[in-house]
Amino acid sequence: SAATTAADLEIALRPTADPLPEAERQAILADPGFGRYFTDHMVSIEWSRDRGWHDAQLVPYGPMQIDPANMAIHYGQSIFEGLKAYRQPDGSVATFRPYSNARRFRHSATRLAMPELPEELFVAAVEALVRQDAAWVPTEDEQSLYLRPFMFATENGLGVKPADEYRFLLIASPAGAYFSGGIKPVSVWLSEDYVRAAPGGTGEAKCAGNYAASLIAQAQAAEKGCDQVVWLDAHEHRWIEEMGGMNLYFVQGEGANARILTPELSGSLLAGITRDSLLQLAADLGYTVEEAKISVDDWREGNADGSLSEVFACGTAAVITPVGDVKSRHADWTVGGGEAGAVTMRLRKALLDIQTGAAPDPHNWRHPI
Ligand code: PMP
Repeated sequence: SAATTAADLEIALRPTADPLPEAERQAILADPGFGRYFTDHMVSIEWSRDRGWHDAQLVPYGPMQIDPANMAIHYGQSIFEGLKAYRQPDGSVATFRPYSNARRFRHSATRLAMPELPEELFVAAVEALVRQDAAWVPTEDEQSLYLRPFMFATENGLGVKPADEYRFLLIASPAGAYFSGGIKPVSVWLSEDYVRAAPGGTGEAKCAGNYAASLIAQAQAAEKGCDQVVWLDAHEHRWIEEMGGMNLYFVQGEGANARILTPELSGSLLAGITRDSLLQLAADLGYTVEEAKISVDDWREGNADGSLSEVFACGTAAVITPVGDVKSRHADWTVGGGEAGAVTMRLRKALLDIQTGAAPDPHNWRHPI
């Protein structure tokens, strides 16, 4: 039935034919980049309206056949997640907060009228793939195995309606150090010509269409000489939402007295798991932390009068990235003299140390495989 639970469903291992030879894998792990190479296996789980979740399998990574009338291609029922597995000091592997990704995946599914994958099954899929392809988890500092769970409609037909069939897939890709030449602040373009998400829209969901809609604004940012786009609210173009595929944090003051702010969850920005972790971690470190409405004017004026000392972005891919130059149609300014700030770097190390097992894990965020 549609009420299939994880307990009912074993992820069947269909042993792979040929893993990539050791020497080839090592050559990839020496310089993996991001999202260019994939591990030997993937997890596949099917859903249909009459059978619910079924056919959970660990299978060799490989292409699939898609019918030209596939509904995901035409009408965009397609969602995804992103999380990482980190090599631990004792050689074991741990993922970071996979149940949080599982929960967000359910919320994304609900928004797109797709079936919710039980959280236990999402995490079981992560465990099965990472265990099977553990040799693909890199060992160098700041490297990781990026996990990409996703789900899309597999029914064929051109009627616009929620599909009656879906496939969940989980693939994995080794990821290199995000900053190879040392940590460098990114420059950002404040997007007023394009909006990412509006109230009542899909901004809170991690759906494929959000990323398609962002590309033209990212291209405009590049034209303006900026690395990333910063999204503003749809209505007034006044309130800061997020940056590209990362959430933003603002630091007022310095040292132990620093006050740390992040845009509140407006309904149109993605509730990042890194963002959520940093709310907790910053409080643990003794900082005052607040979710608030932050305007472009607050940012520009705080920067001019010196009350705003640091700005950084955060997300699974780069953990924490300092923001340097800010440009818009109306004004340009530079945060923190274009250097990474002390609070930014302290938080970055604190979070990475938990993820990589270099520090204790008081909130049980590590999920050993
Ligand atoms: N915002 C957007 C639009 C994103 O795509 C991401 C990456 N998932 C984030 C924020 C950061 O989320 P997380 O910390 O969970 O990676």
